[in-house]
Amino acid sequence: MSSHNPIISVIIPCYNEEEVLLTCHSRMIEVFEGYDNHEYELIYVNDGSSDRTEELLRYLHDSYPQTRVVMLSRNFGHQAAVTAGLTAASGQCAVIIDADLQDPPEVILQMIDRWQSGYEVVYGVRESRAGESSFKLRSAQLFYRLINKLSDVEIPLDSGDFRLLDRRAVNAMLAMPERHRLLRGMSSWIGFRQFGLKYARAARFAGTTKYPIRKMINLALDGIFSFSTVPLRLVTGLGGLTAGLAAAGIFYSLVVRIFTPNWVAGWTTLILAILLASGVQMFCFGVLGEYVGRIYTEIKQRPLFIVREMLEVKAAAEEPKMQPVASHTMARSGVLSRTG
Ligand code: UDP
Ligand code: MG
Repeated sequence: MSSHNPIISVIIPCYNEEEVLLTCHSRMIEVFEGYDNHEYELIYVNDGSSDRTEELLRYLHDSYPQTRVVMLSRNFGHQAAVTAGLTAASGQCAVIIDADLQDPPEVILQMIDRWQSGYEVVYGVRESRAGESSFKLRSAQLFYRLINKLSDVEIPLDSGDFRLLDRRAVNAMLAMPERHRLLRGMSSWIGFRQFGLKYARAARFAGTTKYPIRKMINLALDGIFSFSTVPLRLVTGLGGLTAGLAAAGIFYSLVVRIFTPNWVAGWTTLILAILLASGVQMFCFGVLGEYVGRIYTEIKQRPLFIVREMLEVKAAAEEPKMQPVASHTMARSGVLSRTG
C-alpha cells in the first residue's frame, strides 16, 4: 500500500446522495473484487452537499483504503465536480460514473476490456433508460440532435458522462481550461480512438434527480454556445433577411406612391413591423450576450472549483479501522443507512 499508483481511478460526483452512497460503494467494491486494493481508487467528489453525504464519505474513507474524497467548498455543479475528480485522479485511466447507480458499475469492467484492447475513450451509450420521465427522454433526444446540428463536434447520440478515459485523454481534457464545460462534448473533441459501449441505463436507485430543468437548460446552452458559433451566423442571416424584406417593402411603397395615385396605408402594419423587428433584434442581442457573457467568465480565469479538503489514501502505517469485508457487509445489509 505504500506506493499508491492505481491503474484505475473511478470518479463519483456526489451532491446530496446520502440515500445511495453506501449501496453505490458496495456495488463498486463488488465490481473490483478481482482487483487488489492498490490497483484502483474510488474518488468521491462531495459537491457541497448539505445532507449526510460528507459524514458517510468520511466513514467510507476511514474504512476502505482505496477511497479518496475531494471535498469542494460549495456546490460547483456536476461538470465541475467531475473535473475536480479528474484532477485528483492518479490512475492510468479514469472512469466517470454517477453515484445514483443509473450507470451500472458492472459495465466498468467491459469498459476496461475495451481500454485494454486499445481504445483511449470508451463512452457509454444508453440503449434503454428505465424510470425516466418521457419529458426527460424527449428533451435529451432533442438536446443531442440540436447540438449535433449546431456544433463543430459530433457528440454521440445518447451518451452521457459515463465513460472511461485513458490517461492521455484525461490529460487532454485537463488541458482544456474553459469554464463552461460539457465534458461529453470535450471528450469527443479531443479525438483518440473512441468506442461507444451500449448499456441499459437503470432507474435512479434512491433519492431525487439533482438535475432540475434549470440545470438541464444550462447544460444544453453550454453544449450549444461552447461548441459552436453557428448561432452567430444564423443571427447574421436573420438580420440580412429582415433587412431585405424591409428594403423590398420600402421599394414597393415608393413605387406605389410615385407611379400610382394611391399610397400604402396602415398604422397597424407599421406597428407590427416595428414590433417584429425589435423582437428579432432583442433575440439577436441575447445570442450575442451569451457569447459576451462566456468571454467574460473565461477571461476572469477563476478556478473551476475550490477544494476545501482532500482525504487521501491512508499510509500503510495507518491500518483501516475496520476490515474492508466486514464494513462492506454492514453497508450492504443496511445497518448504516438506517441511522439517517
Ligand atoms: N451532481 C453533482 N453536482 C450537482 C448535481 C449533480 O455532483 O450539482 C451529481 C449527482 O450526485 C450524481 C450525478 O451528478 O452523482 C448525476 O446527477 P443526477 O443523477 O441527479 O442527474 P440525472 O441522472 O437525473 O440527470
Ligand atoms: Mg441520475
